[in-house]
Amino acid sequence: MKSQPRRKFIKQAAAVAAAVPFISTTVTRALAQAADKQLGFALAGLGSLATNQIAPALQKTKHCRLAGIITGTPAKAGKWKAQYNISDKNIYNYDTMHRLADNPDIDVVYVVTPNALHAEHTLKAAKAGKHVLCEKPMEVSPRKCQEMIDACKQAGRKLAIGYRCQFEPHHLECMRLAREKVFGDIKVIEAGFGFRIGDPTQWRLKHALAGGGALMDVGIYALQATRFLTGEEPVLVSAMETKTDKVKFKEVDESIVWQLKFPGGVIAYCSTTYLVNGINRYTAYAEKGWFGLDPAYSYDGLKGRRNDGKEISFDQVDQFATEMDDFARCILNNKASKVSGEEGLRDIRITTAIYESIKTGKPVRLA
Ligand code: NDP
Repeated sequence: MKSQPRRKFIKQAAAVAAAVPFISTTVTRALAQAADKQLGFALAGLGSLATNQIAPALQKTKHCRLAGIITGTPAKAGKWKAQYNISDKNIYNYDTMHRLADNPDIDVVYVVTPNALHAEHTLKAAKAGKHVLCEKPMEVSPRKCQEMIDACKQAGRKLAIGYRCQFEPHHLECMRLAREKVFGDIKVIEAGFGFRIGDPTQWRLKHALAGGGALMDVGIYALQATRFLTGEEPVLVSAMETKTDKVKFKEVDESIVWQLKFPGGVIAYCSTTYLVNGINRYTAYAEKGWFGLDPAYSYDGLKGRRNDGKEISFDQVDQFATEMDDFARCILNNKASKVSGEEGLRDIRITTAIYESIKTGKPVRLA
């Protein structure tokens, strides 16, 4: 190195060295701020889930705070405003949601409305520049799911689906047992979720709002489980439905059983129903043993089982708080959520194939 360029190099290196502590302090401070930051959530649809689970869960989060509400019922607005100290300017209805664009207090809209309104409310939130966490099922058709994905992409905002089980430690342990092949390769999975539904007038029994019955509402948990245990997408599905109460379940499915074939050789048999309580489980049967959960999909009290007698037992977590904190972290660190819109779409493609198989009486091949 000649002396002139060498002197220049040393000078530049010294300047960088002098700046490094400043840069690293700035980066550390920025990271610390991100670590402490709380994002403002607005809940859209103040029904049972928003009232009894999500709002209380928001109080337990690290990175989220209940900042606003979107409701079609003015009486609820007053009650929530008082209970959660929500300012008037952060209260919207479904027609005024576009004004969220002018509200920096709100970072995320959590869509908790009936299934067939998820796309409408997600699109409005995304157009207003907000990130969206949307309850399951993502929507009622693959086309609507795709519209949601596209709208959030176009707005440069993140989209995640409320698959709370994917953040729950018992489920995470079962995923580990599957992934690390602790019992060898899984060969067969049995999964089911159902309950006895009450009020015959509710939206869950109206096709236009629910998009389907037990399968869309709770069967989707069993479907998710088969996918996250195998880590694969099914290639073939066949299904059968029974309807014993043709009045109550005139518009939607009552009980369905379905089978899935996965490319790695796993076969799964699943069930869902709106008729009886108690089906709430999955078991993965592998070469050297089996493991699973029963109950599997409740908000708490999950119980794990493995045939070698070892425990699957963890402290209870608030699944909604964990799910919301994860989404907030994804936003703060600009990372994709593991329960992305694409993940929601994959399930709806399969539920659509299940309904097609029921209609045609034939297995449906999934591309
Ligand atoms: P609810 O019927 O209790 O609440 C839905 C709310 O949506 C209503 O209270 C209402 O709120 C709003 N809404 C807007 N338009 C309509 C309409 N046309 N008809 C009825 N309600 C309307 O349902 P849930 O809270 O039980 O379920 C909401 C969503 O959450 C569903 O997609 C469901 O699948 C999902 N869910 C997820 C669970 C989970 O564990 N992850 C558990 C339970 C539900 P407002 O009056 O404020 O406008």
